[in-house]
Amino acid sequence: MHAILELAKKRTVIFDGGMGTMLMAAGLKAGDCPETWNIGKPSVVTDIHRKYYEAGSDVVHTNTFGGNAIKLADKGLSDQMEKINVEAAKLAKEACPAGKFVAGDIGPTGKLIKPLGDLVLEEAEEGFYRQAQALIKGGVDLISIETMFSLEEALAALRAAKRLGDVLVIAALTFNRTKKGFYTIMGEGVQQTISAFEGAGADVIASNCSLGSRDMIDLTKELRAATRKPILIQPNAGKPVTQKGVTSYQQTPAEFAQDGKEIRNSGADMIGGCCGTNPEFIRALTEALGNWP
Ligand SMILES: [Zn+2]
Repeated sequence: MHAILELAKKRTVIFDGGMGTMLMAAGLKAGDCPETWNIGKPSVVTDIHRKYYEAGSDVVHTNTFGGNAIKLADKGLSDQMEKINVEAAKLAKEACPAGKFVAGDIGPTGKLIKPLGDLVLEEAEEGFYRQAQALIKGGVDLISIETMFSLEEALAALRAAKRLGDVLVIAALTFNRTKKGFYTIMGEGVQQTISAFEGAGADVIASNCSLGSRDMIDLTKELRAATRKPILIQPNAGKPVTQKGVTSYQQTPAEFAQDGKEIRNSGADMIGGCCGTNPEFIRALTEALGNWP
């Protein structure tokens, strides 16, 4: 069994929080490609990983959310894909203490798959395959597919990662709360998602982003009722508030951590944070869950 699953049997596994906001605080400008910092400002990236480990994270995500070649092509960087991902994995491993883990982060292409958009499904899968390959080459311990808004695209990434053989893969979709329940913006529900993820070999079922920690409590209950697989939940720091074009999150680390306990009690095996969370949120979560040794 993968060491992370063994740990999850003993206690809640803590993931990291947001990367983008941390990079912004370090000077990344809106519109800049965060992944280029893996090469241009590596010590900033390593430092962020280190802060999360110090705050109690058992697992951090590589700075490769937009690191697939299709997404990088928007910035004219698709020829840098392998280097960006290999370096990102090395930076996270450099910060990783013994007994902790690095998850290779795979995010969406940002394009719609045909017939809704122009992206050919096989090309998306090939892009994810090559990214996952580079992350594994760089030394990640597992692959984490995040912030997918489309089940079809998430499955393409999952199939791609699974083609690389014996690698643990976390598959996450991003749900919204509607009057009828939790659905992706493409209209896919919880049951449909879990059946598809399990069928494609996901080792961990996950959800991140869009929902704040309150809503994630209820989503966790639904996921738990529908699967026996380990569950990873990474909520945003409450609901976003946009003022003068600037989006911020209003929740405090203490509120987030309190909800984190309920998320655990509702059946999550692994918990981290998404947009608006930082090492203070992870530290509060770690303390609330009684995870300090
Ligand atoms: Zn998010």
